[in-house]
Amino acid sequence: MKLIFLGPPGAGKGTLAVRVKELLKTPHISTGVIFRDAIAAKSPLGLKVKAVIDAGKLVDDETTIALVKERLSQADAQAGYILDGFPRTIAQAEALETFSVVDKVVNFDISNDGAIERLSGRRVCRKCGFNFHTIFNKPKKEGVCDFCGGEVYVREDDKPSAVTKRLEVYRVQTEPLIDFYCKKGLLVDIDASPLVDEILVGFKKALRI
Ligand code: AMP
Repeated sequence: MKLIFLGPPGAGKGTLAVRVKELLKTPHISTGVIFRDAIAAKSPLGLKVKAVIDAGKLVDDETTIALVKERLSQADAQAGYILDGFPRTIAQAEALETFSVVDKVVNFDISNDGAIERLSGRRVCRKCGFNFHTIFNKPKKEGVCDFCGGEVYVREDDKPSAVTKRLEVYRVQTEPLIDFYCKKGLLVDIDASPLVDEILVGFKKALRI
């Protein structure tokens, strides 16, 4: 199944995607993770996007579309995928239509306050990318990933000034995609406010799986 996870930062898209990828045996493709890996590796892509990402703004469409097009051409993405964090603009959504046919778009419904609560407590493993939370999902040992032993840190763009910007960018540039996909009959809404186990139940029900 070819899925898009749509929703504001802090909606829990990445956390749910980790569960759903096991369930559907399908790759989880997060543009945010790809960019962060590139930044960590100090690759040309990473050097190009670092300042924009740290400020909470969007990477330009051309760069992002080329990256996703290439990733979706790989063998493991032919039968299905979970696209997390892409598309984020109408231009990206229109470009995606030229190289892939999506089955469903899952819209993560959460209030601004709910998203801020998630983002302000989010901690991420630098090595495997797993998302923890200071209240809802603490690592067993503070600062250390339960799964790979990597360092658990605060993303630069989860700091308060960038969070405000990211939510504003979401409302202006990404939210119009809800209407875009609704008109195409692809949208399914899920309540993203509870904890991940409950979101998963709502997800399965909405997709009848
Ligand atoms: P995320 O991990 O999805 O919250 O993404 C982190 C950051 O990466 C975003 O705030 C953007 O700066 C950048 N980014 C991720 N996906 C996209 C996209 N589809 N278009 C533009 N920028 C993106």
